[in-house]
Amino acid sequence: MMTFFPVPYKDELLYSVLGRYHVRSGNVSIKATQKDIYGTDSITAIMDLPSHIYRIMENLPVGHNYSLEYLITNHTLYPFYAAFLPSEHAAKVKESMIGSDGGSIYNRIGLMASSVKFNHYFKFCPQCVEGEMYNHGELYWHRVHQIPGVLVCPEHNTI
Ligand SMILES: [Zn+2]
Repeated sequence: MMTFFPVPYKDELLYSVLGRYHVRSGNVSIKATQKDIYGTDSITAIMDLPSHIYRIMENLPVGHNYSLEYLITNHTLYPFYAAFLPSEHAAKVKESMIGSDGGSIYNRIGLMASSVKFNHYFKFCPQCVEGEMYNHGELYWHRVHQIPGVLVCPEHNTI
């Protein structure tokens, strides 16, 4: 169970919110954080299309106002992939994200077969970094920067 949940920034990845949770929680080990978030230490967070979101919901602090729909729509890459999928297909991807069937997500979106390259690392915009450090005193991973094939920050036109 999480004792608090960092308020997600605009366009922040859920992955990044969970990362900030880890830093602020004071947990020394990642396993302790995994237990807080998922109720078990055998689940690892994934950057773009995370699964086990129902478990995250179950472990959010008492009195939170977040919904599954809100987190998936605003803090994962789901809407960007779903826009290019037939709706039944998209619905199945969402089901996999909510439940424990994460392994099938990538096959379902067909990215394996596409020519768009997967990211091998997280991307960031140096100008966004400056603004965030100034405004928030901390940094976060932006969703829009992680979309496969997107190499320029849409806000600053920075590579
Ligand atoms: Zn930027």
